[in-house]
Amino acid sequence: MKNIYAIGIGLIGGSLAIDIKKNNPEMVIHGISRKEATLNKALELGLIDKKATLDDLKHADLVIVSIPVDATVKLLPTILDKIPDTGLVVDAGSTKEAICEVVANHPKRRNFLAMHPIAGTEHSGPTAAIAGLFKGKTNIVCEVEKTTFKLQEKALKLFTDIGMRIRYMNPAEHDKHIAYVSHLSHISSFMLGKTVIDKEKNERDIFDMAGSGFASTVRLAKSSPEMWTPIFKQNKANVVETLEEYIANLTHFKELMKADAYDAIFDEMKNANYIKEILNGIH
Ligand code: NAP
Repeated sequence: MKNIYAIGIGLIGGSLAIDIKKNNPEMVIHGISRKEATLNKALELGLIDKKATLDDLKHADLVIVSIPVDATVKLLPTILDKIPDTGLVVDAGSTKEAICEVVANHPKRRNFLAMHPIAGTEHSGPTAAIAGLFKGKTNIVCEVEKTTFKLQEKALKLFTDIGMRIRYMNPAEHDKHIAYVSHLSHISSFMLGKTVIDKEKNERDIFDMAGSGFASTVRLAKSSPEMWTPIFKQNKANVVETLEEYIANLTHFKELMKADAYDAIFDEMKNANYIKEILNGIH
């Protein structure tokens, strides 16, 4: 693989470009983006070697698509149309069902590998790209059997070389589970931020009282709405289900408070402490 095309060079595309280039200095990273300013920034930061356009994809050995998931669904068939028969396209989208579905009957389906690198920060754009973001993180790969074996082998080596472990899942299973461990956490953080901002907007001093607990639970509320709205839209059914369960838990907690049921509240928290054991070794 020599010619790598990064479509979208924000946090994920930019960080992948840094690590792949570091391990494979002979590769040429070509950047493609909507805005010229984004491309110039990526070039200035050294995330890409050259600027390119979709028409250049005829030279691609590998295309990495890291743009919002609605844009991925729209653009993916065109990208596959443009690559050579020997090329591979991978996407990094946070949802997988709609993306796999849109290329299900594409004549070049075997040149596509669906993946979701479970790594990120709350920052976005090329300036958010960092080295080593994927080290020790999981890369979920979907429908691997639908990709030509030789191509999947080459791509998976690139990702294991940057420190990722590969897990295989079907798209429906991925979208269901990711709604709980990622999408719900973001909604919860966005709405915690909103609740505090709404209440305290006229009392800026109150934020001096905010400790590291507040900062860490509200961190995800800094995330980009441009990226998250299409994720929630594509995973609506699963996200609504997680919200119903979460709201029921919040309502139950409120009822226990109103009833002065502090033993039950203690038990609720004690049970939730089990999260320590679950996360042990992951974080
Ligand atoms: P990002 O930092 O905001 O970068 C996205 C890039 O996509 C931007 O540089 C932007 O370039 C381009 N873009 C935005 N809207 C577009 C549109 N409608 N059409 C074409 N290009 C568009 O986002 P990111 O965090 O790297 O996320 C990229 C993908 O990775 C998403 O699919 C996301 O679901 C997935 N992902 C994110 C995370 C995370 O934690 N952030 C983790 C795993 C996977 P321009 O400035 O040129 O518009």
